[in-house]
Amino acid sequence: MSVFEHINGDGYEQVVFCSDDQSGLRAIIAIHSTALGPALGGTRFYDYRNEEEALVDVLRLARGMTYKAAAAGLDLGGGKAVIIGDPTRIKTEELLRAYGRFIETLGGRYITAEDVGTALEDMDTVRRETRWVCGCSHTYGGSGDPSPVTGYGVLQGIKACCLEVFGSADLRDRTVALQGVGKVGFALCGYLVEAGAKVTIGDVSVDNLARAVSTHGVETVPLEDVHKLEVDIFAPCALGGGINDDTVGEFQCKIVAGCANNQLARPEHGDKLRGLGILYAPDFVINAGGLMNVEDELRGYDRERAMARVEGIYKQLQHIFALSRERGISTSLAAEEYAQDRIRKISRIRLVQTTEYGTNGI
Ligand code: NAD
Repeated sequence: MSVFEHINGDGYEQVVFCSDDQSGLRAIIAIHSTALGPALGGTRFYDYRNEEEALVDVLRLARGMTYKAAAAGLDLGGGKAVIIGDPTRIKTEELLRAYGRFIETLGGRYITAEDVGTALEDMDTVRRETRWVCGCSHTYGGSGDPSPVTGYGVLQGIKACCLEVFGSADLRDRTVALQGVGKVGFALCGYLVEAGAKVTIGDVSVDNLARAVSTHGVETVPLEDVHKLEVDIFAPCALGGGINDDTVGEFQCKIVAGCANNQLARPEHGDKLRGLGILYAPDFVINAGGLMNVEDELRGYDRERAMARVEGIYKQLQHIFALSRERGISTSLAAEEYAQDRIRKISRIRLVQTTEYGTNGI
């Protein structure tokens, strides 16, 4: 399939291929939309099997960022970048700085941040070549690792779900099955325990399980059982695609609310959850806390302001649930329609041009 066949039809604005032989850099930057503002999205550093796989991934992720930013009420568009290769083997200062030079050439149309395979210190390195990077360390005026803030946002979302389903946002004695206690899941686990919830966890990483057990005193279950537990809330915080043909019939929870991206294997799994009477918190709404946090850096980072915005996820989800009820559609579809509607309305406003008549005789 040609590049244009991939990008046509879904409204992508620009796809940039970056190559620097000497450092081994091969990257693709995809700008899906700048209708609401500059396209912000992280850089994924991953050992893709081939270029087509990398292209498909970056396009899918960039489009997802457009929706996430729009639903979060931010003045941001959607974009994403991938660097092709095994980060443990090829990541160097030279490569990251070469990558930073390419971002700079886009003049702020694309702003990067960390993602799978990149970390805070990599953003500090990229920043030496471009202004257009967020999520740098505190030393450089950045907001640091966004993951705990994402976890805090998910906590707000879980409370909104509990209010919708149980009539109370109080998490005391609520039971939660948490799949994946990595950067976000670990932070969420702490917040849930602090709020009085009873949390059971499952993870492929023995180390991450041990860290969560020793820090938060939670119970563990085998990985394959965590989504089947009879609990109030199932929180997918590992990889995407966890809600699929095989798992959806096995859920015994009332709510699905977690941080993982692309939780639904296919859109119709959102309808399936609705049919089963399970409330689903659309992933790109509930997990937008990290994006809100890094976005704040663009104005000079203020943690209090950022956290206040993240707390707004509670209200945003309430609004999505109300739309879903009114229109008789799944919460995932309601969230997509809400994001599309905001993009349509605000980008129309932006068509109103300011002019500079008089200065050059026009
Ligand atoms: P992470 O890599 O730190 O954590 C993922 C955890 O899931 C790890 O502990 C890993 O061992 C575990 N895991 C992997 N496969 C698993 C499986 N099959 N079953 C159970 N556990 C499994 O990543 P993270 O930053 O915590 O992100 C988690 C998810 O949230 C990802 O989908 C990510 O895209 C999404 N997300 C993260 C952020 C953020 O701020 N970090 C923001 C938005 C969305």
